[in-house]
Amino acid sequence: MSHTAIVGGGIGGLMTALLLSKDKNRTVSIYEKNDYLGGRLTYERHGEFKIDQGPTIVLLPEMLLSILEEGGIDRTSIPLIPCDPLYHIHFSDGLSFRKYADPEKQKEELQKIFPGNEVHFDRFLKDMKARFLQGKAQFLEQSFVEKRTFFSRKNLKTLMKLKAYQNVKKMMRSYFDDERLVEAYTLQTLYIGGHPEQSPAMYSLVSYSEHEHGIWYLKGGYAHLVEIITKELEKRGVQMYTGKAVERIVTSGDQASSLIADGQMHSFDDVVLNGDFPIMDQLLKNEKRLNRKYTPSSGCLLLYMGLDKIYESDSIHQFFMSSDFDHHMKQVFTDKQLPDDPSFYTFHPSIVDDSLAPEGKGVLYTLIPVPTGEGVDWSGKDALIEKVLNEMEDRGFPNLRSHTEWMHVRTPKEAEKDGLYSGGSFGIAPTLFQSGVFRPQLQPYSLTNVYAVGASVHPGGGVPIVMQGAKLLADYLQFGAKERHNYKRGV
Ligand SMILES: Cc1cc2nc3c(=O)[nH]c(=O)nc-3n(C[C@H](O)[C@H](O)[C@H](O)COP(=O)(O)OP(=O)(O)OC[C@H]3O[C@@H](n4cnc5c(N)ncnc54)[C@H](O)[C@@H]3O)c2cc1C
Repeated sequence: MSHTAIVGGGIGGLMTALLLSKDKNRTVSIYEKNDYLGGRLTYERHGEFKIDQGPTIVLLPEMLLSILEEGGIDRTSIPLIPCDPLYHIHFSDGLSFRKYADPEKQKEELQKIFPGNEVHFDRFLKDMKARFLQGKAQFLEQSFVEKRTFFSRKNLKTLMKLKAYQNVKKMMRSYFDDERLVEAYTLQTLYIGGHPEQSPAMYSLVSYSEHEHGIWYLKGGYAHLVEIITKELEKRGVQMYTGKAVERIVTSGDQASSLIADGQMHSFDDVVLNGDFPIMDQLLKNEKRLNRKYTPSSGCLLLYMGLDKIYESDSIHQFFMSSDFDHHMKQVFTDKQLPDDPSFYTFHPSIVDDSLAPEGKGVLYTLIPVPTGEGVDWSGKDALIEKVLNEMEDRGFPNLRSHTEWMHVRTPKEAEKDGLYSGGSFGIAPTLFQSGVFRPQLQPYSLTNVYAVGASVHPGGGVPIVMQGAKLLADYLQFGAKERHNYKRGV
């Protein structure tokens, strides 16, 4: 019987436990520092109200469901409902645009709002489909434990096809001839905390995937997924310790033998680090660390509200663009200043879900992209919140203040206190040199039994992608020596 210890009960740690605990010859324990499981995938609660604290947009449903199914959870027990339209985007000049999964509906909308671009949209879908299939097989479904496998002729050819040398914005400008539409197809880099002009073009597959695979809502909130998974883990006897921060991993030679939590030593055969990188480095002795400097992703200023009503709309997700999106991005990523005129996103799940608030009442979430790290002057926070509330009242939520029963605010400072690198919401940023082989891998150290999973580890952030990372890791841990050798060589 071998024993795997997992440091962190985020979706990465939980999914790894789900996949590994199917093996009768392995016991699995999770050590979580918070007094709850799920990490970023949790609720913000207030009395009888609850709303997702972090993730809200369910992408890549097939990836999510098939990995859960592989872990032994029946896909029919996951209450996913499609978003149709996918979302609304409101531009500052008053123009409003909807996105749809159905290409015909989308082309009608384009013809109406951005005439001529419906033809470009066909070309976008066709090109992206081919890129998606190749990118998924060669990057999302592979890890690069052995660095040279990344630089194989096949991968380099795919990188050229994905135009990895271009950025998302430049690529989208080659499809759409209106800057507002370019914004509508580049803002998705913010889902993973990247600047549209600094994220390599392969991340434009996210905006394609919205159309191809749809955007979904998980009834009960995305955080309900944690309840479904932990119920199954409990049934299987997986030990889940909460309120237990791991302070150190004890190593000897090229192996780790135990971890220290609450001053006590717990031994294991393998250990999986699910906390954010590079923070996890600090659990190891200096000479074993990666000791590399990383750029954090952007942060979020989050407003969670309980309302005495539900606003009517045909979409739970809405984006409100400012008059100068580029200026907002410059303030977040370059100048490290609080934005003076930000674009923002709102999530109002009560339109389709009455389980989140008392009868007739609703919950609302607003996300404003903001800079992270030391040196950001937060003295303008209250003025920024007031500015965004004014915009919300003018552009979609009339008299919002008078309908708000409570509001909680979360900034990157709280995220940093909770263990997110530099307060970034999405792990390390998705830049070219922090993607693919350049991101920490599932076996990041020269230690033979220390592994990693999570948003800052390849293949990257976002719930389904972190789950895909857990699948890569679980497969790798279950390989025999020969399979592992071949896998490392990319055979
Ligand atoms: C505001 C926000 C919005 C987002 N929106 C979306 C979205 O719409 N769609 C989407 O797919 N994704 C979204 N994401 C990203 C998504 O939430 C993450 O990619 C994913 O949840 C990361 O999971 P993880 O397991 O890597 O990390 P985490 O959730 O951070 O889990 C790591 C766990 O490790 C624990 N830990 C750390 N150190 C220790 C230690 N020393 N000892 C014990 N435990 C430790 C932490 O407490 C935590 O519970 C969003 C994230 C945020 C913050």
